[in-house]
Amino acid sequence: NRRILLASRPNGAPTVENFKLDQSPVPVPAAGQVLLRTVYLSLDPYMRGRMSDAPSYAAPVEVGGVMVGGTVARVEASENPAYKVGDLVLSYSGWQDYALSDGKDLAKLDPKLGKPSYALGLLGMPGFTAYMGLLDIGQPKAGETVVVAAATGAVGSVVGQIAKLKGCRVVGIAGGADKCKYAVAELGFDACIDHRATDFPQQLAAACDKGIDVYFENVGGAVFDAVLPLLNLHARVPVCGLIANYNATGKPEGPDHLPGLMGRLLVRRIKMQGFIIFDYQPRYMEFFKEMSSWVAAGKFKYREDVVDGLENAPQAFIGLLEGKNFGKLVIRAGEE
Ligand code: NDP
Repeated sequence: NRRILLASRPNGAPTVENFKLDQSPVPVPAAGQVLLRTVYLSLDPYMRGRMSDAPSYAAPVEVGGVMVGGTVARVEASENPAYKVGDLVLSYSGWQDYALSDGKDLAKLDPKLGKPSYALGLLGMPGFTAYMGLLDIGQPKAGETVVVAAATGAVGSVVGQIAKLKGCRVVGIAGGADKCKYAVAELGFDACIDHRATDFPQQLAAACDKGIDVYFENVGGAVFDAVLPLLNLHARVPVCGLIANYNATGKPEGPDHLPGLMGRLLVRRIKMQGFIIFDYQPRYMEFFKEMSSWVAAGKFKYREDVVDGLENAPQAFIGLLEGKNFGKLVIRAGEE
């Protein structure tokens, strides 16, 4: 059983030395257990938080422990009557080829619902995050301008497409010309601005000539600095992620932006709300029903960045924090 362990905690950006590929015997299921073979492993930005022991909303991975993560897995052996060999399940078995489960933390996947890996993206945690953050906190109305950062990623691509379904004008922010072109030509956004362009703030302002009513925050940093002056009266800002800061080792240099931010929130009566998707768990079926009907009706484009081989997970994950992925990043660890 190949397992990827946390070898050490990163200081700043993770490196391949922070991970260790380990070999151990394939575990044998006891009564009530199933043996899972990982087919797809989801790589997500929150894993950077699990590598660190700074206080967070979830416990860190121990040094020497298996890296955590959502997986699509096949039941390879079963001592649990609820599962049979060959069943595909959604599990949280982490960065390893094999794992045991008592079945309580598994969900069987319906083979009719498109590709199994969608359970890790469009129809899973990132899609659910996009749906709840945008609709419950952002509350977009037809005709409003919605801006989303990391626009071609797992969460951002879904946010923008839901906002289009709600009749909004959608402006994406993404890294590089190819991603921006894709957001407009394929995802149907009205515009998409490259945050690496030197005149990014000016380009964003020009694309949002009526200001911004909903800003779905995935990034923070310089992207937020460009968005803040454009936020309209009563704008809503769901704060979903701050990926630009995840590798930070200290406070950013430069002037203190806090008084400017607070002043703007006050004068423009802006609602800014952080959220962690766990809190919405009781509403998962509400999301799942609506999203599966949209997907069945062909209303969503969804791009995956599939990397072959569990051994390539560390490098792929490092790239995720640098914008090297194009679409939802998943590792294909085994045969479908
Ligand atoms: P993505 O598929 O969007 O991949 C991450 C993307 O972030 C990169 O491709 C890159 O896109 C962008 N990025 C990386 N570093 C920077 C940087 N320094 N500055 C600007 N952009 C950067 O990932 P997800 O869709 O899975 O996650 C998006 C966000 O949502 C993350 O912040 C994540 O933590 C958050 N999240 C929060 C959840 C919650 O419960 N609150 C749940 C799930 C996700 P580009 O090249 O376009 O810049």
